Amino acid sequence: MAPRRADHDYVRLANFSKGDSWQGGGVENVDLVWSNAQAEVHRFVVGPVANNVYVVRCRSTGEATLIDAANEHERLLRVATQLGVTSVLETHGHWDHVGAVTEVRAAGIGVWVRSEDAHLLPSYDHLLEDDDSFSVGRLRLSTIHTPGHTPGSICFALNDTPVLFTGDTLFPGGPGNATFEGGDFTTIIRSIDDRLFRPFVADTLIFPGHGDSSTIGAERPHLDEWVARGW
Ligand SMILES: [Zn+2]
Repeated sequence: MAPRRADHDYVRLANFSKGDSWQGGGVENVDLVWSNAQAEVHRFVVGPVANNVYVVRCRSTGEATLIDAANEHERLLRVATQLGVTSVLETHGHWDHVGAVTEVRAAGIGVWVRSEDAHLLPSYDHLLEDDDSFSVGRLRLSTIHTPGHTPGSICFALNDTPVLFTGDTLFPGGPGNATFEGGDFTTIIRSIDDRLFRPFVADTLIFPGHGDSSTIGAERPHLDEWVARGW
């Protein structure tokens, strides 16, 4: 938490009327990282280990979903309110990705998670199925179960766009850590190869749970190196 910055932002937000466009960084410390005529993808960074939180917003209806209610719940809820967030999708159940779950649920926003990771959350509302279609206004997110970092890790592809949210499964430079409880290196490599590298085209944008973005095309040639080094 950064109280000084939050105080400053509150003043700025108080003057931000609902009718204004969200384009161009009108929301506090939130970056518009991708958009087309139908969709916006916003990112902001929270918490002690710099978690990326993403908001996918339908430009037709104004409805949005938030990926990983990670931390800094007051700021997260302000952004959620401004961007029209009506649901939260959890990429997995690790503590740094679920720190604001209790508060977003108290605010009436439903939280979705895979069954295998559900016990890691303080509470939740709905379970995510594999190979399912999740509606956000007129947008659709496809669910891709990718175990290995945790048993319930899941990625989300924004249909008809090059946008893929990979949580802690795939980062620039390799797979997520598979040495935590419930993790398995062979499993994460199989998930990345079968469910991400084979189905998605090279131009697909990877938005991970921490750090910078990448593309499928930039990462795919390195799979054998990752297997050989063992992490
Ligand atoms: Zn994790």
